Amino acid sequence: MQKRYIMAPGPTAAAPEVLLKMAEPIMHHRSPQFSEILTEVREDLKWLFKTQNDVFILASSGTGAMEASVVNLLSPGDSAIVVRAGKFGERWAELCETNGIKPINIDITWGEAVRVEDIEKAINDHPEAKAVFIQAHETSTGVKHPIKEIGELLKDKNICFVVDAISAIGVYDIETDKWGLDIVVSGSQKAFGLPPGLSMLSVSQKAWSFIEESKCPKYYFNLLKEKKALNKKTTAFTSAVSLIIGLGEVLKDWKKQGHEKLFKHHKILAEATRAGITAMGLEIFSKVPSESITVVKAPEGINGQDVVKILREEFGITIAGGQAQLKGKIFRISHMGHLDQWDMIVALAAVERALKKLGHDVEFGKSIAAAQAYFAAHEE
Ligand SMILES: *Cc1c(COP(=O)(O)O)cnc(C)c1O
Repeated sequence: MQKRYIMAPGPTAAAPEVLLKMAEPIMHHRSPQFSEILTEVREDLKWLFKTQNDVFILASSGTGAMEASVVNLLSPGDSAIVVRAGKFGERWAELCETNGIKPINIDITWGEAVRVEDIEKAINDHPEAKAVFIQAHETSTGVKHPIKEIGELLKDKNICFVVDAISAIGVYDIETDKWGLDIVVSGSQKAFGLPPGLSMLSVSQKAWSFIEESKCPKYYFNLLKEKKALNKKTTAFTSAVSLIIGLGEVLKDWKKQGHEKLFKHHKILAEATRAGITAMGLEIFSKVPSESITVVKAPEGINGQDVVKILREEFGITIAGGQAQLKGKIFRISHMGHLDQWDMIVALAAVERALKKLGHDVEFGKSIAAAQAYFAAHEE
């Protein structure tokens, strides 16, 4: 049997300890035992998100919590500012359009970050806008947006700041309360290293005042219903019990490590990988690279999809290619999930080998040497 690695930006690798915990017999979602677990998980999520606000857990992939943000905050006919700097920014605009909300799009060249001035101009030009939708980290391009600075700009304005931090929470610092983030969205299959199926979102006091006025139709993703259930230490509908138990295990481990160690872990994996990629003579695609993933420009004459294909089909390693306009032009290596320094060495070695197979001029071991040197100098 071939050994398999998953180093895609989601779903990510899960720790065996967490998988085993989720394999335990099913607990009833209304039992006092589960209620206790759920309450503790919600408290630990508040710790992770750095917020005093409630954090809700929904049974859906990340997009469910994105949709919940749109339909709970706004009403048909409203307008909202959307940062479209990649595939996931486009998703915010589509969610708005689907629900009769007019997106005011700030279109950014893929690979670049929005500037605070762009947001400032949009809110001045469109005082009617009720919300700003953005990604903390745009996973399709590997770019980080300046969330802290935008949060400071919007904090005292009557406008909700909604941040899709699905590939940022648990990877690098997101200060929900301090930066004035009204809704922060996350998902189980990225940094948490859990199977897909859970989304999470924190909701500020400012956001609740919008939620009470919202007229978008919603049944399953109704945060007022969820709030009532939360106050009774349960969820509105059947909780995704096994996934929540798995989430509890991950959070317990993370709390033991502390925020700093968790962020440092991802930073080291990202920087060592980038050192390796650069040593190989390749370029990083993202102008403001994240600690979540490394996005590599496919070298001249090489199709990025071929690199992905060789890794998957011949080496048993799953990384990701580019989406939409970036298809063939890039490949993406994740630092999220149950991965460590040795996995990054594997990824680099595999990329060297794949490029060689594709006829690219590669000197074996160069990227490994650079990554090793970085790891040795930054031992965790
Ligand atoms: C993965 C991801 C999503 C969610 O996608 P799902 O397939 O619904 O889980 C949304 N935004 C970003 C930035 C992501 O990385």
